[in-house]
Amino acid sequence: MDTNGSVRRKTVILFPLPFQGHINPMLQLANILHTYGFKITIIHAQYNSPNPSNYPHLTFKPIDEGFSKIVDQLATNLDATYYIRYLNESCVDPFRDCLAKLLLGDQESKIACVITDAAFYFTQAVADELKLPRLTLRTSSMGCVLAYDALPFDSNKTCFCITKEDSDYEVSVPEYPLLKFKDISKITINPQGMGDYVTNTINQMKASSGIIWNTFKELEKSDLETISQDVRTPSFTLGPFHKYFPASSSSLIEQDRTIISWLDKQPPKSVVYVSFGSVALITKSEFQEVAHGLANVGLPFLWVVRPGMVVGSEWLESLPENFQERMGDRGRIVKWSPQQEVLAHPATGCFWTHNGWNSTLESICEGVPMICSPCFVDQPINARYVSDVWMIGVFLEDGFERMGIEMAIKRVMMDKEGEEIRERISCLKDKVNVSLDEGGSSFQSLNNLVDYISSF
Ligand code: UDP
Repeated sequence: MDTNGSVRRKTVILFPLPFQGHINPMLQLANILHTYGFKITIIHAQYNSPNPSNYPHLTFKPIDEGFSKIVDQLATNLDATYYIRYLNESCVDPFRDCLAKLLLGDQESKIACVITDAAFYFTQAVADELKLPRLTLRTSSMGCVLAYDALPFDSNKTCFCITKEDSDYEVSVPEYPLLKFKDISKITINPQGMGDYVTNTINQMKASSGIIWNTFKELEKSDLETISQDVRTPSFTLGPFHKYFPASSSSLIEQDRTIISWLDKQPPKSVVYVSFGSVALITKSEFQEVAHGLANVGLPFLWVVRPGMVVGSEWLESLPENFQERMGDRGRIVKWSPQQEVLAHPATGCFWTHNGWNSTLESICEGVPMICSPCFVDQPINARYVSDVWMIGVFLEDGFERMGIEMAIKRVMMDKEGEEIRERISCLKDKVNVSLDEGGSSFQSLNNLVDYISSF
């Protein structure tokens, strides 16, 4: 039985990109659709495989994508487009074979459609060949898709290599004036590869039978209108997905839950929570500046240092001398946190983030002001929306430097500006809740999606 009281036996097949920030929303979507009565099969890569035992109600089909052959390069090669291109080539045959077998095998439950990550653009051709509708899941913001589409990745590559010394560094980019040249220089080290990626994902998204966005209408209303003028494919904005199902069960690293009792002991809104997500890397000197900034500002902090995040270090070897002894109980460092719970905790005062889209949405949903330190791909775009459009965070404009860090944290945690930011983000938090309630925009969109899939 589904939540509307009727039986839906159709199967939906989902295929996530094998990275934490993509696996989380896809598995959340899988669980949402399961709640609505669909049978769910997840085709997945062996790299970063989800743990099937966390989801006994879903069926898992691993394919051999061969990512292990290039996995060593992740620590040194920062060209995200390289990995995406590799996966779009290596997955073609195993994905087609797996899908074809599933189509032949299950007579009991009709396979309604396949939902694949937008970055798996090759899947449209496979779905067409097998005459199966494909829906695209966009795990990034609408603003990101518009910016990617507008930026001149193919024609003017030099603007992506700009440095602090260039006179255009602080200047707005004519094709997308919200962004400065210094922002777009962070997006990619391979503009040509990025241009190909953008063209492929947007073309195959438009060719698909529907687009599912992990966002909510009230947040990206004008970008939704702009996209709707160009893209005729049905769009569904039913996010944020983590409000239906937490990300903890799809966590690839074990979450350190001991910090919850530490948070319980901290005063309300006093803790600076620091995390740069699952893939961002920082240098040793940046890492040390973060440590000095946190030490100097004098507030309690919870800092996620993912093993391997500091280039050339295994974990904490590059911390300033006696850092942890000096900080004592004021600061906690963990390898991975239960992030949603941390953000929802009353002691958390701000989130110093890399602005991955999931982290950004999670912060909005808990009304936690942000300090933005984007690293690459969509993060610089999300950070500009956070600081300049929604005005719910401050941008740590010029990288990791202790004085700038201290000032940014003080602006958010101690100044009037911080109070105003907190009011604005609390307002957005309320809007999220309204959109998810019965009759709200996300609630309605989810029902539309369920009806749409049922119609296949
Ligand atoms: N996350 C977590 N614990 C951490 C840091 C992150 O559970 O210590 C989760 C976070 O809640 C989010 C995901 O990992 O759902 C990261 O996705 P995001 O899009 O923010 O960034 P990415 O890792 O893709 O750069």
